Amino acid sequence: MKIQNQPTVKSGGLPSPLRGPSFSQYSQADQAILKDLYDQGDLRENADVGRVLQEYKNSLSGAPRVEGATGYHTYEEMNAALRELAERFPDKAEVVSLGQSGEGREIYALRVGNQDETNSKPGIVITGCHHAREWMTVEVPLHTATNMLENYDSDPASQERVDKTVTWFVPMVNPDGYEFSRTKNSWWRKTRRPIQETGCPNLKGNYGVDPNRNYWDGKPENFELYRPAGDTPCSTADDFGGGKTSDNPKADTYRGPSGGSEPEVQALLNLELNPANNIKGVIDYHSYGDMILYPYGSKELPSDRLEIYRDIGGKINQALGNKFDLMPSSDLYPTSGGSNDLHEANGILGLTLEIGRSFQPPAWEIPKQTAYITPANLVFIDEIKSRFTQA
Ligand SMILES: [Zn+2]
Repeated sequence: MKIQNQPTVKSGGLPSPLRGPSFSQYSQADQAILKDLYDQGDLRENADVGRVLQEYKNSLSGAPRVEGATGYHTYEEMNAALRELAERFPDKAEVVSLGQSGEGREIYALRVGNQDETNSKPGIVITGCHHAREWMTVEVPLHTATNMLENYDSDPASQERVDKTVTWFVPMVNPDGYEFSRTKNSWWRKTRRPIQETGCPNLKGNYGVDPNRNYWDGKPENFELYRPAGDTPCSTADDFGGGKTSDNPKADTYRGPSGGSEPEVQALLNLELNPANNIKGVIDYHSYGDMILYPYGSKELPSDRLEIYRDIGGKINQALGNKFDLMPSSDLYPTSGGSNDLHEANGILGLTLEIGRSFQPPAWEIPKQTAYITPANLVFIDEIKSRFTQA
């Protein structure tokens, strides 16, 4: 694997979503938009090109008119759905606040399963919506939690998962961005905290940080996972990955004023790195592209870890009908400050699943897509359970 500064263009000049009849059918103006989207990393392999173009155009005319938006859970509706599950299954599930977002919304987790006195059950975290516009990723954790709890009595495998692991479902890591994306600008990706001080005299502040570029656990030995060598603070000229992780506060991929600066990231790391939670595995949901990504974004895994990721990733892919690409996240594009890199650096297995073929499929696709993805979570939970349950 080679780390490159630009995303891979596989052959023929244009990337495959932009090649052939599926691209030439678009007007010159649309082709220019698609080219821009590609350059920003928003048009990927496996894209439903027409749908992504439509979603982009929807964002220009205002989110309330987005086709199919009604039907995705709002922030309040998601909180209510988590509370309802906790009320229906009081001895098995509990709603826990992990902290507050930049605008002061609680970031809730539904914890399924209870830790025992010796703190020996393996913990798992399943997160959605680091990125505001990736709406389907909000629905997947809720669906899997519901599945595990509702099938407890009838399905021995579900019972085992609930009894022998502690799984934390966090459907909305970035509630501020999500609500902004739902109501104001459906293309919004970052958080919404106003950044007054960028730490860079030459760079003016803006709104929000890309939370999946902001991860750092404060350990000096992991600092290069946040800012790789050669990426100078306050300089956008040498941004890592050709701008896919940026010091520019106006960029969609802004890494933030410092590593771990954002409250959403702190909330997640406090959950995941707390020894009392015994977290052994994390799946972080993103859209889109039908990809299973393992660490790192900026360097290669040692071979023993690679073997584990290939094994678990392969089993997850099997649960998804082998329709996903299993690869290191640097193969999508090189990045730093991603959540999984910090998981791996702390001995936690961390995978990213990029689901679907666009950012915002119509809401009527929610039942089908979530039912399709949930088996991937169940396989992952089973793997963590069998690998880390103490005899
Ligand atoms: Zn994402």
